Formats: sequence, structure tokens, C-alpha cells
Amino acid sequence: KGKEKMPNLDSVKVAVRVRPFNQREKDAGSQCVISMNSNCTTICDPRNPENRKSFTFDIAYWSHSGFIKNADGKFIPGGLGSRYADQMKVFNDLGQGVLDNAWQGYNATLLAYGQTGSGKSYSMIGYGANRGIIPIVCEELFRVINNNQDKNKQYQQVSFSMLEIYNEQVKMLISKQCAPSSLKICVDVFLFLFFGGGKYLKGETEGISKLVTSPATRPMPRTDRLNSPSDSTSMYLAQFFYKIFLEENITKQSSINMVDLAGSERQKVSGSEGDRLREGTAVNLSLTTLGNVISSLAEVAVRKRVLHIPYRDSVLTKLLQSALGGNSRTIMMAALSPADICYEETLSTLRYAERAK
Ligand code: ADP
Repeated sequence: KGKEKMPNLDSVKVAVRVRPFNQREKDAGSQCVISMNSNCTTICDPRNPENRKSFTFDIAYWSHSGFIKNADGKFIPGGLGSRYADQMKVFNDLGQGVLDNAWQGYNATLLAYGQTGSGKSYSMIGYGANRGIIPIVCEELFRVINNNQDKNKQYQQVSFSMLEIYNEQVKMLISKQCAPSSLKICVDVFLFLFFGGGKYLKGETEGISKLVTSPATRPMPRTDRLNSPSDSTSMYLAQFFYKIFLEENITKQSSINMVDLAGSERQKVSGSEGDRLREGTAVNLSLTTLGNVISSLAEVAVRKRVLHIPYRDSVLTKLLQSALGGNSRTIMMAALSPADICYEETLSTLRYAERAK
């Protein structure tokens, strides 16, 4: 009491993560336009290599090892001085902080932003054995709860839900509140079935998948969803909520919110009308409002000014209202492609992330 470490509420924390080249980029003979030196990320215009812009974020993660070819055609050591990051490293730096804050009673939010294919889902949910932050946070959360030896501390309530937001409409994919031990299985199985991010093998999941969802919300395997138009424009919000009862009648509660945002690429308005067009505007609305909310919060923190925060302008920010600002801590992870062919989108991702600081 009173001695607890205060979380850093000064501003929103921002991390950037570069993924390795994908096959399409390799086939196109793409060159790397990103370089990182410590926390400084530099992007170089492939049409004019003299034109470089640098951004400094709290953390910069590099994924390549060895030498890479930069935009000048020279081979340079990958990510000079920056951090090579695997999934565990990203969890330790970002996910652990989210958990630490939550245990202290602060709502915590972690957002992944970037164009489609830049590595948002890889970081948040993961693929196969490369589990992302959400499953690892889940595992850690339940490990701490199940190993609790402190008789003065009782975990009263733990719940998990996963929401999909598509075209400003919210769909509940899973919502569970039960004993921590069975909840952990539910969450893992759900993540495996829906995103391929859990650790269970196919055979094992069949028996326990009944635990997870009703037929109405039975998840589709990710491979089937990849061709669906909603894939890049949907966002997924994973929420943990818990309540602990401490001695002297003190109850602590908080929520952890982790969001795999929609692809940030500008929607191609190719004379299409109706639903597709509405989809484009709605996606932009959520991401634009989120950007406005986060940059207003950053301004409040830095300048100590009272501002109107436009939470009510989009579904996502309404849902996250109590978890952004106030009694909370926010981390944004911007996912980047290293390739010249993604230059414009990568630059716009870096600019969006910069506004959050
Ligand atoms: P997004 O969610 O932003 O649309 P994905 O997370 O699906 O993008 O990533 C696209 C592809 O790149 C996937 O095949 C994924 O496995 C791969 N990938 C993304 N980030 C990394 C990384 N840091 N290391 C290795 N592979 C990655």
C-alpha cells in the first residue's frame, strides 16, 4: 500500500517492428528501405535515396539476421545496434509491462497498427508455434493466478472475450468467465482454432473445442478466412478482465485490451459503390479516430492541457474508452515491411506512430 511502483503514465509508448521480406517481395527483388540504429528508425525513399526520414520511438525491433541489401544496393549489417526480436522478446518488453500494470490495477491497452501483411497478427496472435503476445499474456496471467500462494489475495473473477469489429459493427467471438484453470484451456483452444495461435495439436482440440464456442460463433480456420474480404478490414480485440480481493476489504480490478487493428492501407476507391465503399470509410473512421484519441492523450500527458478526447467518434474508441487514458497505460506497436515496394504505406505507418508520442 502506497509503496507500489507507479506505472509510467507520461505518454503512450510506441514500438516499431520490421518483419522479414515475404516471398512476394523476394520475387520482386525488393530492397530494404528501413534501417535501424538503436531506437532510431530511418526510411529511405527508393526513388531518391538521398531522401531519408528518421523517427525515434521507445523501442525498435529488427527481424533479420545477417546482411541485407539496402536501397543503395549495398550490403549492410541488418539492424545495426537495434534489437533482433523474436516473439518472446516482444512479449518480455511489451506484454510483461501490460501484465505488470494490470496487476497494479491499471487498465492496459496494446495496439498493433500497420498495413495488411506487415506483421500485426504475427505479433499479436502468432502463427503455429510462433505464438504472439495474446496467447503468451494469457498463459502468464493464468500461471500467476494458479500459482498464487498468498492467502490474503483471492482472485474473484477472471474473464476473457474476443470481439471482431468489422465495418463499425461488433461481433462477439468468444466470451467466457469461469474458473481460471478451465478458462485458460478455452482461451488457448479458441486462439488455436480461430487464429492458429494456440499450442494444441489438431487432434487434441476436437475434444475440447466444445468448451469454446456455441455453433453460432464456431470459429473458422484462419486459412479459410484469408480469402474473405473482411480479413484485412476486421479488427480483433482481446480483453481480459480480472478482479482480486485483497485483505482489508480492498478489491482491485482491471482490464487488459489487446487489439489487432485493421490494415491501415488507404482504401482503393475505384468507383465502387455501396457496401465496399462504406467498408472503406468505416475502417478509416476507426483508425483515424484512434489516432486522434491517442495523439490527444499524448498531448494531455505532455502539455498537461485539458482537451476534448473524441472517444465517441468510433466503435473501437468507445469500447476502449476506459482503457485509453485516465487510469491506464497504452502501448502501440507499429508493424513495418522492410521492402521498397511498400515505401509509401510504411512511411504513413511511421507518421501515424509518431503522432502517438
Ligand atoms: P498482418 O496481420 O499485418 O496483415 P501478418 O501478421 O499476417 O500481417 O504477417 C504477414 C506474413 O508475414 C505472415 O506470413 C507472417 O508469418 C509473416 N511475418 C510477419 N511478421 C513476422 C516476423 N516478425 N517474423 C517472421 N515472420 C513474420
